[in-house]
This record gives sequence, structure tokens and C-alpha cells, in this order.
Amino acid sequence: MRYDIIIIGAGPAGLSAAIYSARGGLKTAVFEKAFVGGQITVTDEVENYPGFEEPLSGFDLTDKMRKQAERFGTVFHDEEITAIGLEGLCKIIQTKENTYRAKSVIICTGAHPRRLNVPGEEPLTGRGVSYCATCDGALYRDKVVAVVGGGDSAIEEGLFLTRFAKKVYVIHRRDSLRAQKIIQERALKNPKMEFIWDTVVQEIVGDTRVKELEIFNRKTKQITHLPVDGIFIYVGILPNNELLESRIELDSAGFVLTDETMHTNVPGIYAAGDIRHTVLRQVVTATSDGAVAAWSAEKWIIENYDSLED
Ligand code: NAP
Repeated sequence: MRYDIIIIGAGPAGLSAAIYSARGGLKTAVFEKAFVGGQITVTDEVENYPGFEEPLSGFDLTDKMRKQAERFGTVFHDEEITAIGLEGLCKIIQTKENTYRAKSVIICTGAHPRRLNVPGEEPLTGRGVSYCATCDGALYRDKVVAVVGGGDSAIEEGLFLTRFAKKVYVIHRRDSLRAQKIIQERALKNPKMEFIWDTVVQEIVGDTRVKELEIFNRKTKQITHLPVDGIFIYVGILPNNELLESRIELDSAGFVLTDETMHTNVPGIYAAGDIRHTVLRQVVTATSDGAVAAWSAEKWIIENYDSLED
């Protein structure tokens, strides 16, 4: 099957690219192996995406984007891509079931949560260890939980958890937060939140469920045990770059390098959203990236193919 533009990943960047590409009359397909919406679907309240006076959930926001993309004729494939062939003008997209061809490809594969990599984390995942407060927060009504990290995710999700938990510890490795000031202030004022500064989690302890955390204060060098019912880990994100051949240039952390038109170093291959090397990873920047990538890919196709009918 042939498309003008294939978009890999259906988060806000991919959906925005699809809206711009399909609305521009290009035959557009989006491939998503998991679920439409990407990482933002686990965010309970998005309140900084322009155009919505009241907060709306990440799921509702991206569901609107999906419907908008479909309205312009975008085709969605829930197939897992196994390889991308970048050689030559025509790009080859291989899935387990089929082979697809496209004139241009936009990579919007996003990112995923970084693990703490401490003993107990892996065996207790789903049994007290979580990376998603929206998914699991309601299980901790009147319980004690810890959030690890000092960025936007940790603080926003920690605030969300105060709706359910009776106590939310925030364990941060430094003595100041990285999160935006407005949510820092809300968190620091919240009576249910207690900050444990300069501290790292060394071990997550429990047999069948999380019972306590072994924590280490980096300043005092003291090790203590903190009883908790759950731990929510928000220590940053890692790029979903497994599919990208060694030919696509990445930064030292594995995010894709592009120019201002979202073009990678490979002709006809664009990248948008969280997978891209960028200063800010927000829904609004992802959708902006997606629009620029689709616009640029269309220009590239017109310049490199005799006509859109090729
Ligand atoms: P982040 O901004 O990279 O913050 C990660 C936090 O985890 C930092 O405080 C970091 O500490 C800490 N950390 C990293 N590795 C650690 C380790 N091994 N052990 C203990 N702590 C560790 O990640 P994020 O909060 O997931 O946010 C990712 C991106 O999404 C950011 O650009 C963020 O602005 C954006 N975001 C935006 C919103 C919003 O605007 N509504 C919501 C969520 C996320 P240090 O501070 O010491 O480095």
C-alpha cells in the first residue's frame, strides 16, 4: 500500500502532523502499536493547552485530535512497525503483516518513563510501584504514597495523588524543584504533601506488595526506612528510538536531531514531538512540531517527486 506521508506514532505530534497532511490533500497514514494519544493520555488534567478555559484530560484532548485527523481522511493502522527502509526516494515501512511505501515519513514515536533501576522496582511493578498516577491513584485512597522526582510530572502527579492518598511524600535528590513555579507553590502549600529533600531511593522493599522504601540522604549520609503503600516514579523520560537506524542522527541522550523544519539528516525523514531534541516537551510544542513537519514534508515531496501522483 502506498501513502504520501506515513506518520509513526499517534501522540499529539503525530496527530497534529496527520491533521495538517491530510487536510493538505496528501494521502496520510498514522501507525500506532499501542494506543492513540501517547503519553499525555495518562494526564488527568491538561490546563496549559491553549483554547480550553477549563482543564480537560489528556485522553479527551487527543481523542478530539484523532477525530479531527480522521475527518480529513487520515487512515489509522494499529500495526507494529518492525523496520523502516530509508534507502532511496521511496521509504519502505515494514510491519509484521504488511509492507507499506511512502514518499516521506514523520517520526513521532515519543518517549517513555525512565526507571529508577533499584532493587525491588521491577518485581513490585504493578504491586505498589507505578509510573502512572492517573491509572493507579484511585487504588491508594487513605493510603500513604511516595512520589520520586522534582520535575513537572512528579509534582503534578503528586498533587493529583493528594485527592486519594492521606499522605504524599515527594522524594527528591536535590533541595530545589525543577517543576514550574506555579505548581511548586501549590505543592509546597498542600498539607498532604511532605518533601524529603536531598534523598534517593536505594531499595523498594516488599514481598507481594510495596511495604517500605530504603532511602538515603545524600547530605547527612543517613539511611532510613519509610513505610509506604505505593511509590510513583517520575524521574524523566527516555526516547523511543529503537526503530531508528544508525543513519538517523541522534543527540547524546538518543533524541533525534532535526533542523528548524523538523528535517532529520536523512532526506524525506522528519521528526516531531518528544522524540526530537528540543528545549520543551509539552502538548503545545508537540502539535507545533507536527504541523511544521507535515508542512515541510509536503514541500519536500513536491520538490523531489515530479508530481504528487507518482
Ligand atoms: P524531568 O523534567 O526530566 O524531571 C525529572 C526529575 O527526576 C528531575 O527532578 C530529576 O532530578 C529527577 N531524576 C532524574 N533521574 C533521577 C534518578 N535516577 N533518581 C532520582 N531522581 C532523578 O522529567 P518530567 O518531570 O517527566 O518531565 C519531562 C518533560 O515533560 C519536561 O520537559 C516537562 O516540562 C514536561 N512536562 C510538562 C508538564 C506540563 O507542563 N503540564 C507536565 C509533565 C511533564 P534533578 O532535578 O536533580 O535533575
